[in-house]
Amino acid sequence: MHLESKTPLDFEAIAAKLKREGARHLWRSLDELACTPEYEAFLHDEFPKDPAKEPQGAAHSSEQALSRRQVLKLMAASAALSGLTACTKLPTEKIVPYVRAPEEIIPGKPLFYATSMVDRGIAIGLLVESQMGRPTKVEGNPDHPGSLGASNIFCQASVLTLWDPDRSQTVLREGRISDWPAFLATADDLRANLASTKGAGLRILTETTSSPTFAAQMRSLLAQFPSAKWYAHEPCGNHAAHAGARLAFGHNMNSVYRFDKAAVVVSLDCDFLADGAASIRYARDFANWRGIETPSAQMNRLYLVESTPSITGAMADHRLPIRCGEIETFARALSAGLGLPVQSTGPAASAVPDAWLKAVVRDLQSHRGSSLVVAGASQPPAAHALAHAMNAALGNAGQTVIYTDPIELSPENDSLPELVKDIEAGQVSTLFILGSNPVFTAPADLEFAQELLKVPLRIHCGLYDDETAELCHWHIPQTHFLESWSDARAYDGTVGIVQPLIAPLYQGRSVHKLLTVVSGEVGKSDHDLVRDYWRTQRSQLSGEQFEILWQKTLNDGVMAGTALPSLSPKLSLDYGKLPDPPKLNQQAIEVVFRPDPTIGDGRWANNAWLQELPKPLTKITWDNFVALSPATAWRLGLTSGDVVNLNINGWKASGPVWAVPGHADNSATVTLGYGRKRAGHVGTGFGLNGYLLRTSSAPAVANGLQVEKTGQTYLMAATQIHHPINRNNQQIEEESENAFARDLVRVATLDEFRQNPQFAKEPKEDAAKGLSLYPPFKYEGYAWGMSIDLSRCTGCEACVVACYSENNIAVVGKYEVMAGRDMQWIRVDNYFRGGLENPETYFEPIPCMQCEQAPCELVCPVGATLHDHEGLNQMVYNRCVGTRYCSNNCPYKVRRFNFRLYSDWVTPSLYGLRNPDVTVRSRGVMEKCTYCVQRINEVKINAEKEDRLVRDGEIQTACQQACPAQAIIFGNINDPNSRVSKLKRQTRDYSLLAELNTRPRTTYLAKLRNPNPEISTA
Ligand code: SF4
Repeated sequence: MHLESKTPLDFEAIAAKLKREGARHLWRSLDELACTPEYEAFLHDEFPKDPAKEPQGAAHSSEQALSRRQVLKLMAASAALSGLTACTKLPTEKIVPYVRAPEEIIPGKPLFYATSMVDRGIAIGLLVESQMGRPTKVEGNPDHPGSLGASNIFCQASVLTLWDPDRSQTVLREGRISDWPAFLATADDLRANLASTKGAGLRILTETTSSPTFAAQMRSLLAQFPSAKWYAHEPCGNHAAHAGARLAFGHNMNSVYRFDKAAVVVSLDCDFLADGAASIRYARDFANWRGIETPSAQMNRLYLVESTPSITGAMADHRLPIRCGEIETFARALSAGLGLPVQSTGPAASAVPDAWLKAVVRDLQSHRGSSLVVAGASQPPAAHALAHAMNAALGNAGQTVIYTDPIELSPENDSLPELVKDIEAGQVSTLFILGSNPVFTAPADLEFAQELLKVPLRIHCGLYDDETAELCHWHIPQTHFLESWSDARAYDGTVGIVQPLIAPLYQGRSVHKLLTVVSGEVGKSDHDLVRDYWRTQRSQLSGEQFEILWQKTLNDGVMAGTALPSLSPKLSLDYGKLPDPPKLNQQAIEVVFRPDPTIGDGRWANNAWLQELPKPLTKITWDNFVALSPATAWRLGLTSGDVVNLNINGWKASGPVWAVPGHADNSATVTLGYGRKRAGHVGTGFGLNGYLLRTSSAPAVANGLQVEKTGQTYLMAATQIHHPINRNNQQIEEESENAFARDLVRVATLDEFRQNPQFAKEPKEDAAKGLSLYPPFKYEGYAWGMSIDLSRCTGCEACVVACYSENNIAVVGKYEVMAGRDMQWIRVDNYFRGGLENPETYFEPIPCMQCEQAPCELVCPVGATLHDHEGLNQMVYNRCVGTRYCSNNCPYKVRRFNFRLYSDWVTPSLYGLRNPDVTVRSRGVMEKCTYCVQRINEVKINAEKEDRLVRDGEIQTACQQACPAQAIIFGNINDPNSRVSKLKRQTRDYSLLAELNTRPRTTYLAKLRNPNPEISTA
C-alpha cells in the first residue's frame, strides 16, 4: 500500500451511517466507518507496506527516514563519548537509597533512590532504579502524596532525556565551545558592575518554581542587588487559576482537590486526570470510585463541558462539547442555578440543554459537602472565581476542596510582558534565562526574539542548545534533575528533595549554581545549599537530630509534616464586578491553545518515546494538527490531512487539519510544543508552531480564526487504524444486536449492572472450554495472570511508556509508524460509541494476552514461541527466523516484528539507558509483552533464596506499577486469595474474543458508567 495523501472522508455520509447503525455500535475511527483503503489495508494485512516494495524517492520514504536515524547515530557516536566516560559516576555527595539495602553496589543488583521531578514548578515524587550507578527506570514514590507509587508519561520518559545525546554538553560563548572558568571570569566582571549599581539592569527570568532553596537564594540575591528583578515565564502555567483565586478571595490561594471525597464532580474544561503534576494523585482518587466490586457499591459521577476532547472528558458520565469561550457563560448559568447572585445570560451555547443544566444543579445540591466544581487552565479567572463561589455555596470548601497558601514561590503571573517592557525601556543590561526557552514559547505579539537581541549581555542555562540559547552570548548546559540537588513542593505543599543519582554527564550546572555565580557564593555545592537551607529552617533541632531528619528525608524522598496547613479563606467575590464574558459571534471560529498531550509545551520535543506515543483520542504520532469537529471541517470543505493557512488577527501559521469526533463546532484546537527549530535530531522540524498564533492578551483562546484551504495535503502517522481486531465490516452488518453486546469493550450503566450483574458474561461465551487437540496441561505452582479494569483506565498511556523503558523497546520513526511497524508491546485502543458530534469514548489497554491455547505457538515452524509451566507465552529470540506466522495468527495483534535495525546499537550514551535484565533485540525478530518476565524471575529467585513463596503483590509488571489508576493488576491466579484471582471472580470479568477458545490469561473488567437518569431518559 502506498498513498500520496489520505483518502478524503465524507463526514456527512459517516454521520448518516452512524445514525442508521444505532447507538450500540462501537467504532474505532472515521476511516473504519468510511471503509477507506487505508483502513481496509490494515484490516486485511497486519503490515500493509512490504519494505521491499516501498516507493523510491518519495518525501516520506523510509529510506529517507532511515538516513535521518543514521545521522542521529553518527552524530551521537562522536558527541556522546564524553558522556560515556562519566556514565557510572555517582554524585560526590552522599545519597541515600530508598530501601534499607546495603549501600554498596552489588553487580546485577539495582538500588532505588527517591527523588522528585518538577512539572511547572510542582513536584512529583519518584523512585529511580540505578543499575551500577546508571539511572535506568523511573517509578512513582509510594510515600509521596503526589504520586502514591504511580507516575505519568513524562516521569517515565524523563530517563530517556537524561541519556539524550542531543543534550547540551559544553559551555558555549557566541555559539562556540568555551568552558566554565571562562564564564566565571565574565561573571566576576559582571558582579563588580552590579555591586556598584545595586543590580540595576539585572533581570533573571526563570520558570515557575516551588523550590524553597531557590526562592531563598533569590531573596538573598535581590537583597544584595535591590534594583535587580525576578521574572517568571511558564508558557502553560496555571495563571488563570491564580488570578481566579485573587478575584474570589482577594489574594492567591492554592486549591487541593479531594476527588476521593467527591461523589459528584463538575469540570469546567478541566483535564484533571491528565494535565499537571497533581493529575497522578487525582487519577488515583477518581478511579477508586470507578472500579467497584459489587453492585451495591457507590460510584461517583462526572459532568464535564469542554471544547477539545480530553481523557477526562472520555471518563465523564455526561460530557458536552461547547466552545471554550462559552464555558464561562455556562459557569455563570450554573452559579445562578445554585442561587448565586451572578448575572447569567443563559446556559451559553445552544449545546447546553436547559434540562441538562437543571439536572446538574439538582445533583450538586443533593451532594452538599460531597460535590466539587473545578475549572481548567484554559478558562478565564472569572470561571475559576465562580468555581470557588459554587464550592463555597455547596459547603465543599474544607471538604472536597482544601485551600492552602500558594505552592509556587516565583512571581505568580507570566511576567514576560513586563520583562519586554523593561527591555524596550532600556532598563535591562544583563539577562539570565534559567531553564526556559522563551524565544520559542513567548506569545507572538511580544516578538521576544527581536527584543532579546537588544539586551547587551544574555546568558542562558538550559538542557538543550535551543532557540533561546542560539540568541544568547553565553549558554550553560543545565543539569538534568537526575543529576542535581534541589527541593520542590508537591501539589499539597509537601517538600520533596531532588536527589541526584549520577554525577552530571556533561558540563552541566544547576540553576542554583547559576545564582551562586551572580551572588558570589560560587564555591558552595548544590547539596550544601539545599541542606543548609533546611538546617536553618529546622534550627530548633540539634545537629544529631537534624542529621537523622536529613537522612530520613533523603531515604523517603519527602520531608515529613511539610504539607501546607488547610486554611479557610473568606469568599469576597464581588459578583457585580466580574469582568463580562466575551461576546462571541456564533459563526466565528475560535482557536484554543493547549499543551500537547505527549510533548507538553515543547520541552519534551526531543524525546522519541513521547513523540512516538500515540496521542490519546486521535492516536497521531510525531505531529500536531489543527483539530476541528467533523461538522466544522465539513462546513469548511476540509478533511483530515488537508493543509490550511491559519490567520488570527494577523498572526499566521499553517498546518494539517484533523477531524476529531466530539470536538466543539466552530472551534479549533492547536496544541503547543511543535514546530521546533532547534529541539535536537528527534524533535526538530515536526508539526505546526502554535506559539506563532498565541498572543499575550489571548493565551488560552482567541476568536475569529480564519482558515484557508491550501490545496495541499500532509500525511500523518495515526495508529488508530492499526491492529484492528474487530470483525470485518460485512460481518458487522450481519451481526445481531446481541453480538454487539459481546463486543470487545463491554459497557453498562451502574443501574444496568445493578439489575444484571452478569451483563459482561452475556451472551454466553459458548466456546467449549477444554476443546483442544492437545491434552490439557495442569498448571501447578504459580500461574500468572492479569486483570485490566476498563472502569478505572483513564487512557493516560503511562503504561505504554513504562513498557518502553522497562523492556528496551525501540522507536521506529514516523514513516515506519505509518507502515504499521510501531513496536509498542502494549497499546491503548480507543473505541467510540454514538454520533460524531459527541460520542462516548472507551479505552482498552492491549498487551499480549498470554493465551493458554495460544494460536501463535502452533504455527511457529521453529518453536521460537512457546509456553512455560507457569502459563507465560514466551519468545525465544535466538530461535526466531522471522516468518511472522505467529503474528498473522494472533487475533489480538500484539506481536511486533523488528523489520529493520530499529534499536540504536551505535549511540554510546544510550547504552546507559538500557535495562540490563532485558535483551536489546535486533532486526528480523518477533517480540512482544512477556508480563515483564525479568521482574517475575527476580522476585522468584529472591523468594526461593528465602525459602518462601512469592507474596501477592510482590511482582508488579512495569505497566501495572506506572498506572495511576491502578487499572492493571497482576499475580498468581492459582492463589485464590491473590488480588488478581479475586478480580477475575468478579462478575464484570470477561475475556477478549473468548469465542476463539484461546483462554487468555489477561482478562478485563467491564466498563461501568454512572449517568444521571434524569438526563439519560430526557
Ligand atoms: S492502564 Fe495504562 S492507560 Fe489505563 S490508566 Fe493505567 S496507565 Fe493509563
